Amino acid sequence: MNYQIDENGFYGPYGGAYVPEVLYSNVENLSRNYQAILNDPDFKKELSRLLKVYVGRETPLYHSPSLSEVYNTKVYLKREDLCHSGSHKINNTLGQVLLAKRLGKTRIVAETGAGSHGVATAMACALLKLPCFIYMGEVDIQRQFPNVGRMRLLGATVIPALSGSKTLKDATNEAFRDWINNPLNTFYVLGSVVGPHPYPDMVARLQSVISQELLHQVPEITGKEKPDYVVACVGGGSNAAGSFYHFLNDPEVKLIAAEAAGKGLDSGFTAAATFRGKPGILHGSKTKFMQTNEGQVVEAHSISAGLDYPGIGPLHAWLSDTGRAKFVAVTDDEALDAGLALSQMEGIIPAIESAHALAALSQLNFKTDDVVVVCLSGRGDKDLETYIQYSNSKKTAHGNV
Ligand SMILES: *Cc1c(COP(=O)(O)O)cnc(C)c1O
Repeated sequence: MNYQIDENGFYGPYGGAYVPEVLYSNVENLSRNYQAILNDPDFKKELSRLLKVYVGRETPLYHSPSLSEVYNTKVYLKREDLCHSGSHKINNTLGQVLLAKRLGKTRIVAETGAGSHGVATAMACALLKLPCFIYMGEVDIQRQFPNVGRMRLLGATVIPALSGSKTLKDATNEAFRDWINNPLNTFYVLGSVVGPHPYPDMVARLQSVISQELLHQVPEITGKEKPDYVVACVGGGSNAAGSFYHFLNDPEVKLIAAEAAGKGLDSGFTAAATFRGKPGILHGSKTKFMQTNEGQVVEAHSISAGLDYPGIGPLHAWLSDTGRAKFVAVTDDEALDAGLALSQMEGIIPAIESAHALAALSQLNFKTDDVVVVCLSGRGDKDLETYIQYSNSKKTAHGNV
């Protein structure tokens, strides 16, 4: 079985580039050029230099004594939370902005929901000196104001999306419209392994620095040649794709993807696209997403902004269909409990996104000598208020008993 993209941009039946005709030449031009640029020795050298001196790579592979004890196995955390910007997202934005420069582009646009991708894009643009325009729904601007402040401080222009529900999908539409109107000088930086080909493959390659490092860290640190499990959360799927990448064709490495069940798979408030989704076309590619019988996108719910997305990327739809990765669903409360536990047991406050991957461990059966690598995709500073509220509500609930 092949888990790499084929020459037409498909993983099995999923992927492709379903874009309006006006955008076709932009996407086509990128498809023709991205692999040659990503593989160019000078590009690779410059990107790995920046990943080292700017992002702080490589990130540690950390043995977690308390999680190992709880699950009676060997648990290791891949510390993407220590990346500059606070998550893995900078691996991708730095790569894409550097690629945009190689293509001679002079202007960057991106969309953002919660703001993490916008901030990581604004950082890469500040560093590489390209003007940056971030589209963000007006509602999200109000909900995520600290990130708006960060983007502006970094020199980006934040443009409110005022149409429709004034959230991520409207910001995406307006960013696409910008790209259509400025096809020659503008590069669109996408934040996950979603969207039209070549974005899913391009983003997976840029995030594959995670599994690239695991190839030598696992033997050095665990004594085993390869991990028995790699576990990651899935919003669009970029940190999971990057953690899985070099192990995709090795069936001895079990791949586990944790999706956000929200308030529960049957609650109507969920983001678990492999459990509740069906195939269709979303954001320019054929993939799986939650939809009505008429094919209208159903709004997702997750406590974590990064997983609050109705679909998954085409690679993950294929990993799910083929059974190559096992998908598990984790509720809001399970994730919050796992995040609070890691904070108290080991002094690491994980992003609530990453806490979904930690919570997934309780649904698996390990042998004592298994090497279990969990991608800790980001840090939880941004989630403090949610953690504190949850923790207080639990105390109150206990007080009432
Ligand atoms: C954005 C984000 C995610 C979800 O995105 P993927 O593309 O699925 O990786 C997960 N963790 C953190 C910390 C994020 O910021």
